[in-house]
Amino acid sequence: MSEQQTGPKGGFAHTLASRVEEWSSSMEQSDPDFFPKSAKGQSPKILWIGCADSRIPESTILGLKPGEVFVHRNIANIIQPTDINSLSVIEFAVAHLKVEHILVCGHTSCGGVNAALANNRLGLLDVWLQPMRQLRMDHTDELEKMDNQSEKTHRLSQYNILRGLEVLRMNPTVIDAMTERNLQLHGVIYHVENGKLEVVESTEDEHRLKKRLAAFTTKQAA
Ligand SMILES: [Zn+2]
Repeated sequence: MSEQQTGPKGGFAHTLASRVEEWSSSMEQSDPDFFPKSAKGQSPKILWIGCADSRIPESTILGLKPGEVFVHRNIANIIQPTDINSLSVIEFAVAHLKVEHILVCGHTSCGGVNAALANNRLGLLDVWLQPMRQLRMDHTDELEKMDNQSEKTHRLSQYNILRGLEVLRMNPTVIDAMTERNLQLHGVIYHVENGKLEVVESTEDEHRLKKRLAAFTTKQAA
C-alpha cells in the first residue's frame, strides 16, 4: 500500500491527493525532467515576502514553477526586525540559497492593512499589526486627508512595504549579500482588482545608503 492510500478513505485529504496526482501526471507529461530535478534540490533566484491572502499565490501570478521562488508569507507582509520566523527564512534564502532578488509584495484591499486603519479590538492580531498601526500614526495627517478608503489602504500598504525594505536593509546577512554579490531588493503591490503589479520602490539614495552602511555594517571580531 502506498503512503497516499493510508488513513480513512473518502476524506478531504484523499480528494486533495487525487487532485495532486492529476497535476503531477500532467507535469510529468509536459516536463519529464521536472520531478527528478526537484528531487535533487532547489535553487530559487527569488525570495518572495508577501501577504498570506489567498488571492496572491506568488508562483502562479509570476508564472513560475515550483522550485523557482522561496517564500515567506504572513498577515499583511509585515517584516519586523525581531521576528524569528521571517528572519530564519531570510537567513536561509540569502546566506544559503543565495537568492538574487528579494521581493516584498503587498496588495490592494489587504485585510491586515484595513484592520490597522480601523479601531476594532482583534486580540492577538493587534499585537501583530502593531508596526502597521505605528505607520498609520506616523502618517496620520496624510491619511486623514484621503476620503477614499481604498486610497488609504493603498497608501498605508506602500508605507508598509517601504518599512519592510528598510528593515531588510538593516539585516546583517542582507547587507553582506547586497555589498558582496549585489543582492537586489524590490517593493511591489499586487492589484487584486486587475492582476497588475505596481513597482513601489527598489532603489535607495546615495546619501542614505552611506549612512545606513556606516551604522549597520558589522564584521566578525578577529
Ligand atoms: Zn493582505
